[in-house]
Amino acid sequence: MVTVLQIFFVLVLIIILILFVFKTRRQNETIPLPENYRELLTDYVKFYRQLNEEGKLLFDKRVEQFLAAVQITGVNAIVEDLDRLLIAAGAIIPVYSIPDWQYINLHEVLLYPGAFNMDFDQEGSDRPVAGMVGTGPLQHVMIITKWQLRQGFINSNDARNTAIHEFVHLVDKMDGTMDGVPEIILERKYTAQWRNMMDATIGQMKSYGSDIDMYGATNPAEFFAVISEYFFEQPDLLNANHPGLYEMLGRIYKTER
Ligand SMILES: [Zn+2]
Repeated sequence: MVTVLQIFFVLVLIIILILFVFKTRRQNETIPLPENYRELLTDYVKFYRQLNEEGKLLFDKRVEQFLAAVQITGVNAIVEDLDRLLIAAGAIIPVYSIPDWQYINLHEVLLYPGAFNMDFDQEGSDRPVAGMVGTGPLQHVMIITKWQLRQGFINSNDARNTAIHEFVHLVDKMDGTMDGVPEIILERKYTAQWRNMMDATIGQMKSYGSDIDMYGATNPAEFFAVISEYFFEQPDLLNANHPGLYEMLGRIYKTER
């Protein structure tokens, strides 16, 4: 006679089997990097070009890990190998010196061809057509346009890079608030100083203008993203023009030696 207990055990067994099959399948889904990824990264990513061989290997590894964890979906746009690599590069550059960093707050990146009309919540949008970090129902989603993504890397000396900008927002958001203070990586003893520094610089920008992109004067969260683009694209120029900001960003991103 088949007892309730036996039926229960069979059911549990079936569930375990299903979970096992799914898990194996997901692990196998990892897409390997394209054959010419080194060439593409070298051609398009200045940060990568400037790394030594050891640094490049480390960068490759992290690109691979990022692409295994985050889905990249084209919305009326074809996702090419170059796009996937540039999105990953934008993710890795800000946290390159923080080895155990993972974007646990990101599941998917949507790639749009060019300007996109947002019929969803406008909150969190950036320079309207460039990109955005999702909120509400789009939590854990980032939107970026193919055009801006590529321009950000092609023009590597203009202190602007939309991918880096959006990923910095995610770094900032990891502590629960997108306020320009990435408390998860900035030592507590510096947070007040950093907040004051941001407020003072935004005040100066509004009064006198600045070599810093004026979009950064919108609020501290945008300031942090904009000044980080400057920091990673033109570190020497930022150091010359704003040594205090440069020093603090070195502390935040652990790039100081
Ligand atoms: Zn922004």
